[in-house]
Amino acid sequence: MATHLVWFRSDLRLHDNLALAAACRDRQAKVLALYIATPEQWKTHGMSPRQAAFIERHLHGLRESLKEKGIPLLFREVPDFAAAASEVERVCAGHGVSHLFYNYQYEVNERLRDAQVEKQLKEVACQGFDDSVILAPGSVMTGNHQMYKVFTPFKNAFVKRLQEDLPDCVPAPEKREHPATVKDIGTLKLNYPQAAFSETLFAADEKTAIDRLRQFCKEGAGEYEQQRDFPAVEGTSRVSACLTTGVLSPRQCLNRLLAEQPGALEGKRGAVWLNELIWREFYRHLMTYHPELCKYRPFIGWTEKVAWSTDKARLKAWQEAKTGYPIVDAAMRQLAETGWMHNRLRMIVASFLVKDLLIDWREGERWFMSQLIDGDLAANNGGWQWAASTGTDAAPYFRIFNPTTQGERFDKKGEFIRQWLPALAEVPDKWIHTPWQWATKEGVTLDYPQPIVDHARARKETLAAYEAARKA
Ligand SMILES: Cc1cc2nc3c(=O)[nH]c(=O)nc-3n(C[C@H](O)[C@H](O)[C@H](O)COP(=O)(O)OP(=O)(O)OC[C@H]3O[C@@H](n4cnc5c(N)ncnc54)[C@H](O)[C@@H]3O)c2cc1C
Repeated sequence: MATHLVWFRSDLRLHDNLALAAACRDRQAKVLALYIATPEQWKTHGMSPRQAAFIERHLHGLRESLKEKGIPLLFREVPDFAAAASEVERVCAGHGVSHLFYNYQYEVNERLRDAQVEKQLKEVACQGFDDSVILAPGSVMTGNHQMYKVFTPFKNAFVKRLQEDLPDCVPAPEKREHPATVKDIGTLKLNYPQAAFSETLFAADEKTAIDRLRQFCKEGAGEYEQQRDFPAVEGTSRVSACLTTGVLSPRQCLNRLLAEQPGALEGKRGAVWLNELIWREFYRHLMTYHPELCKYRPFIGWTEKVAWSTDKARLKAWQEAKTGYPIVDAAMRQLAETGWMHNRLRMIVASFLVKDLLIDWREGERWFMSQLIDGDLAANNGGWQWAASTGTDAAPYFRIFNPTTQGERFDKKGEFIRQWLPALAEVPDKWIHTPWQWATKEGVTLDYPQPIVDHARARKETLAAYEAARKA
């Protein structure tokens, strides 16, 4: 009898899991599952303690639901990816595995690890799947078979492909006719710093994740376009942590969206949310074709020459939500306390770090990774390179957000600001974005810092620094 092994990585779910479904297709085969924790590697990648807690919780849930299907989930810990390859080999040898199934990860180290595994497993048939994307990297290319560098033509080609052929979801596996048993299942515990996450904000099991996705697609996706920019409103899906860790698949998002909002592919209700899913794909495809993006390299070469500020105190003020710009500080508090930040705010704080403080975007990229529950290399890098104007199809370098007017536009009455900065609770709406002016006028002392930079001056300095780099 064949023994199939499913190696779980960032695909922690039962439903619509291509590797798992393929492993279960032969009803006679015994199926085992494996998860390998690699704490040293995660440290190098800067994974956040919140994401670690999220992964551990979902691994427990996955182990239970796989067990009900007659599939034991083995848990192993090794330091890093190099050791993971040998561990897979050991598990295969120890359990007489004939076939290995896994879903691709597109980051550089992950790809090297998988190549190593396939090389080492001489007697085992290995099969990988493009599971964490709606369409596989390489399947949406220009007429010259190049990866698109600009989002809109990529999106148009992507939508056209979907209109021709929509990728279905595969069902969760049925209970095995021959359940597998193992003696060495392994105690499931991640040996990595962890920080508790809110189960109200982030689904703690697969069923809740699916239910919330359904609810959002039904009730939220149609209004998304009007609501998505206002952080005080619950206007976005909050599925990012589930997508990053694979508790949900992007195909589930797409199919659920189209079930609830059937005009989304034709640009009608729901199309703007679909757009966001395609941004996620764009960055993943891009990273596959430009592996240097995994190595802190900018897309636009000349931006390497920008003379960044090395002012550690400024960086610390940004990290600790003490910049004196309320919308920036409220956003950084949201990040610190929940591990998540609203997309509009990610753009504002990223722009502020790079273009008001002139700090290297890679400092921001690293800090986000160390804090985010949804930290995802491709999306995070894409977002930072967009904000810093170092990426492909990024904001032009002379486009610099004014943090005060951004606050006024997207949190007019300061509801979001007051939620995260209680020190500003008493500041009237009119002054909520410039509380220092109100404090001076009223002769009040606020437990809140003065702005650490003058935006107008900072803007000029940043423009000069970018222009000097461009000409260098
Ligand atoms: C500087 C910066 C850093 C970012 N870092 C990350 C990150 O580490 N992980 C991450 O998942 N997203 C990141 N994003 C993208 C975006 O902010 C989040 O995906 C979004 O805020 C998550 O909330 P949501 O699930 O409610 O999103 P929704 O608005 O409901 O969108 C649905 C899904 O689409 C995808 N998506 C939405 N916007 C983007 C985008 N601009 N780029 C790529 N995918 C997108 C996400 O998977 C998201 O869950 C970053 C954006 C910026 C500007």
